[in-house]
Amino acid sequence: MKSDLPNTLTNANQLCVECGLCCTGHLFTHLTLKPGEEAKADFLGLEHSDPAAKIRLVFPCHLWNGNCSIYAHPSKPNICDAYQCGLLKKVTAQQVDLPEALKAVRQIKQVISELEPMLEGKPDQAFLKRLIDQVSSLESSGHGNADELNFRLKAGVVLVLFKKYFDRREFKAQRPVSNEESIP
Ligand code: SF4
Ligand code: SF4
Repeated sequence: MKSDLPNTLTNANQLCVECGLCCTGHLFTHLTLKPGEEAKADFLGLEHSDPAAKIRLVFPCHLWNGNCSIYAHPSKPNICDAYQCGLLKKVTAQQVDLPEALKAVRQIKQVISELEPMLEGKPDQAFLKRLIDQVSSLESSGHGNADELNFRLKAGVVLVLFKKYFDRREFKAQRPVSNEESIP
């Protein structure tokens, strides 16, 4: 998730500034801080009283405010600067041009906006978790009504778009998406 100063935006930065889906709980449910980032965890208000437990920042990130509110702060988790989704890598490598990438992001956000009113669960939980939980629940209950079928259809579309554009590792491995997905 690239986040340089707005007046020095590269194509990659422009993409991330408009997208943000890896911070907002749509692609992942959380990120995990690395050992040695305990001081950052304190700054970020993250629980880490158990030294054996991994320190999680749960999405939607509380520092997301339409943009990363600490993009230049030294206490930003390391993974925030390091992570690059498949689409960002392709734009950086000039395999996909910026307008095409932005079009994909807008298409995905449109489907997300259609799904959001259909989603159960607490709105402060990650979209991905609520989506997967609801799809799993409907699948285990068998045939559904028209609204449920419509939901499952749109959920399938958004997961296909995640696979197509973001090149997620778990999709490559052909394993089902879990309701607990950390930024790798
Ligand atoms: S999902 Fe990819 S393009 Fe979107 S903000 Fe994250 S790294 Fe950038
Ligand atoms: S700290 Fe900033 S870059 Fe990192 S997940 Fe939160 S909003 Fe995104």
